[in-house]
Amino acid sequence: MSEVISKPNIVAAPDGHEQPGFFATSLEKAVGLARRNSIWPLPFATSCCGIEFMAMMAPHYDLGRFGSERLSFSPRQADLLMVMGTISKKMGPIVRQVYEQMAEPKWVLAMGACASSGGIFDTYSVLQGIDKVIPVDVYVPGCPPRPEQVIDGIMLIQDMVGKETFRKRQSPEYRNLMTKYGMENH
Ligand code: SF4
Repeated sequence: MSEVISKPNIVAAPDGHEQPGFFATSLEKAVGLARRNSIWPLPFATSCCGIEFMAMMAPHYDLGRFGSERLSFSPRQADLLMVMGTISKKMGPIVRQVYEQMAEPKWVLAMGACASSGGIFDTYSVLQGIDKVIPVDVYVPGCPPRPEQVIDGIMLIQDMVGKETFRKRQSPEYRNLMTKYGMENH
């Protein structure tokens, strides 16, 4: 039985000048290339979306193909906070504390309807979206989202990470955003 073996996708090189024997680019683009292909996620999973996340980590979908197989359960060694599941108001400060403990630069992905907007739980006890307590970069809709959707969200994060400039975190826009969340000294 013959099996079709597909060629692996090779990560595209950053923009630059190339000729036989040399390649020149900027430090920013080289760092962006390295960062975007080695994102270390911190999974903050509280309920069913976390199970879908586990499926995404397993061999069939395999987040390791995107350089993110190394999950971090310490905020100090993570650059992507993935919040998945229902977040109660009581848990809001904990999510925020984990976010604050992460070193810059850092990004946030809200997975599923609950993390993005409270989902079906429009009740007194459930936070109506984690963006009430921390800034969010990418929202993945669904209840729960399929692993393909989460991978799509991760790829959007990769795009942002790869294109981020060194100056972004010092920009007035970013400082204003942090001030809005009461994290001026962040
Ligand atoms: S979005 Fe749906 S699947 Fe995800 S945690 Fe909420 S109820 Fe569960």
